[in-house]
Amino acid sequence: MNMEGYYKEKINWLRKTIERSNYMVCLMGVRVSSQCGCTNYRDEHDAYEIEAKYGYSPEEMFNVTFFNNRVEQFYDFYKRDMINVLGEVGEGLKTMQRLEARGKLKYIITRDIFSLPKRAGCSNVYELHGSVFSNFCPHCGKRYPLEYIQQSKGVPRCEDCGMVIRPGVSLIGEIVDNVLISRAAEEVKKADTLLVMGCNLKSSLANTFLRHFEGNELVLLNTEEHFADSKADLVIHGKPMDILKDLGI
Ligand SMILES: [Zn+2]
Repeated sequence: MNMEGYYKEKINWLRKTIERSNYMVCLMGVRVSSQCGCTNYRDEHDAYEIEAKYGYSPEEMFNVTFFNNRVEQFYDFYKRDMINVLGEVGEGLKTMQRLEARGKLKYIITRDIFSLPKRAGCSNVYELHGSVFSNFCPHCGKRYPLEYIQQSKGVPRCEDCGMVIRPGVSLIGEIVDNVLISRAAEEVKKADTLLVMGCNLKSSLANTFLRHFEGNELVLLNTEEHFADSKADLVIHGKPMDILKDLGI
């Protein structure tokens, strides 16, 4: 069978797996955000350019210690190179929304901070690392939209109490909300089908949740091949958003 025929067969298999499922949960990895055009400071090329521009690596700046000690520089980087490109919600994510509306897809669990599934209309999303769209004053709790951060001059401050506003995302060095992780793990436990996309099965996202999965069908959609791929019942290599689009559902 040629490559195209082989791919089509796998797409059919995926479609059937989804039809059979009554409780599908999705782990959405960082490659999906990159594929949608979001900034990815983990990308080596981007990281090098950013270090040349600011004198610090993105990992040094996107860090809670850096935020606490050098907030002007943090927000300079954050506004110019983190939230300047928010990515686009394509057909692949809209497929996820339709699957949720049909009651197939129960939850998406992700570390994406650009709220891609929610922007596609999905309601049941665990955003483990928060969202750039939901910011707050750590003193009085007042909420601020992304536009407030984007439009502020210099460091954004609370209009009521003057405190520095916290971006609604987890910074490196911060502890991720354990309650959120437990709730997401409960969903994985209930799933009959687990769809992992945009990361490999040894990524930290998959590592955190795979051990809770007790269902039958582990599906992996990822661009790169990895030695752990064979653990999945169905693997399709390619861009996850394109694969979902090709499902035609
Ligand atoms: Zn305040």
